Amino acid sequence: PLNIARRRGLQPPPGMTVERFLEAVDELRKELAGPADLIQINDESVDLVDGWYLDKPATTHDAFHVADPENLASSAVIFPRSTADVQAIVRWANRHTTGTGDKARGIPLYPISMGRNLGYGGAAPRVPGGVVLDLGRNMHQIVNLDGGNASCVVQPGVTYFALFEAVQKLNESQPEQPLWIDTPDLGGGSVLGNAVDRGVGYTPYGDHFGNHCGMEIVLPDGSLLRTGMGALPGPDGSDNPAWQSFQHSFGPSVHGLFSQSSLGIVVQMGFHLMPAPPAHQSYCLTFPREDDFSTIVDVIRPLAQRGVLGNIPQLRHVVQELNVTGQPRETFRTKGSDSKKPLTPEEVHAAASKLALGDCSWVFYGTQYGATQQALEDQLADVTKAFASAIPGTRLVLPKDVPADHYLHARALVCAGVPVLRELDWLNWVPNGAHLFFSPIAPTRGEDARALHDLIRQLHAEHGFDLFPTLCVAGREMHYIANIVYDRSDSDQKQRAVRLMRAMIAACAARGFGEYRTHLLFADQVARTYSWGGQALLRFHETIKDAVDPRGVLAPGRSGIWPAAYRGEGWEL
Ligand code: ADP
Repeated sequence: PLNIARRRGLQPPPGMTVERFLEAVDELRKELAGPADLIQINDESVDLVDGWYLDKPATTHDAFHVADPENLASSAVIFPRSTADVQAIVRWANRHTTGTGDKARGIPLYPISMGRNLGYGGAAPRVPGGVVLDLGRNMHQIVNLDGGNASCVVQPGVTYFALFEAVQKLNESQPEQPLWIDTPDLGGGSVLGNAVDRGVGYTPYGDHFGNHCGMEIVLPDGSLLRTGMGALPGPDGSDNPAWQSFQHSFGPSVHGLFSQSSLGIVVQMGFHLMPAPPAHQSYCLTFPREDDFSTIVDVIRPLAQRGVLGNIPQLRHVVQELNVTGQPRETFRTKGSDSKKPLTPEEVHAAASKLALGDCSWVFYGTQYGATQQALEDQLADVTKAFASAIPGTRLVLPKDVPADHYLHARALVCAGVPVLRELDWLNWVPNGAHLFFSPIAPTRGEDARALHDLIRQLHAEHGFDLFPTLCVAGREMHYIANIVYDRSDSDQKQRAVRLMRAMIAACAARGFGEYRTHLLFADQVARTYSWGGQALLRFHETIKDAVDPRGVLAPGRSGIWPAAYRGEGWEL
């Protein structure tokens, strides 16, 4: 891991002196009355250690920094033990203000669950000197696991691995209805954290926020709110019996306000769990030509709309057959070509032809679910026929056809709700590998897919990066995920990656393609692209933010939403 010695000492929250900040922290220490390590002060004695995904990911800064890591370093990290601790911390942040009138602001708090969030900003606060609330370390209970209702309630520190284990145990006790969890590509993240950030997985329950059911939230004034049926108390002080059964309650729906949001700290969240299907089958389809791309998307559309495809499949460019081997880029380079440059298309195809799937241009990773093996075979025959009749050279590949270390086996696990870590292998592509995600949404339509892909491809080439397109394609929309992999010890690569991101955000927005999620440094630019009606959406977000969080204590700047006390003061990037 990179270890960055501090050049600056402790950065207090903006507008506060170090002395005042340390006095405030002393006051909080007394109030929480916990062990000394409940609060960590990030002074000059604390180096910025990037850490490693599983072993102590950084809580001091963004481990995958694209700028000077000290610019996004926190002043302190607090590890609350309970909802009451979180409430006390939020009230404390409101008490210690700087500025007056509508410019009065409290101590900025940035909640994280596990703080991995790699490629989107890690555990960094948006405002330097912000205080990180690491909820995951001490709040990691599975509060409820209801086999009959097929649901669970988790605290922020419950990882996909932990939930998976607990559900496996439950399944032993109810073999008549085994349950699955849904996991994203990497299993070490927080179930709650990923869902509030609207992350996705790959079983039919892959829309993580869509499959949540009920939250308990600490609001910016320190009070508590329950969403969904939880707002109606159960008998004798119990939780509402339908809290994990019905997502809505009465009146305007508010739960969406707490996703990608700075309006509350989620301390408990319910989720539906999928009854395990009796049979499932993962597979690949390969397509020979680069130009097959838009036809592939057009074939997926009706299949996905009709529910013939079992899950949200991934369409990946064949270059990703190279990086999932975990080999560095240089392994695949033709001797004599420039090692600073992306691989050429010829190098990619030459290398791919030596791998298990053979040379091709696009690889579709799908999974079918069904009641019987026969049902799966019928589905698979229909799907293959639909592609093969539109695209000459379509080839079906099953897990039994590829070696044990092929990526298809990892995909098969993820698509059956089993958490894995395989995607970490990407990071070997370049030395000190880090990545940044660019993830716009487009309609599932060949011509849009083509336009988006051409824009992104051209800009990657101009800025000198390998392009790694993965498309998660549903019936009406697709998430195009381009993962920019760079060496985080190389400032030129970092600056180029930032320029590439900014250029893609602008060029894609001009065509109507917007990001579903972004790294915290690009949130302002992305928020501005959602400009319909004279920036009506951002204005509405600001109105709510000012009403709910008048001192701007909760995650100022998150999703490009700045509290009144910060607006127009030069914070927006
Ligand atoms: P990961 O699961 O990848 O480790 P994080 O814990 O970093 O994810 O969470 C991703 C983002 O979601 C955070 O940066 C933060 O903005 C938001 N977030 C995470 N946990 C909470 C929470 N309990 N309440 C509110 N927002 C949260």
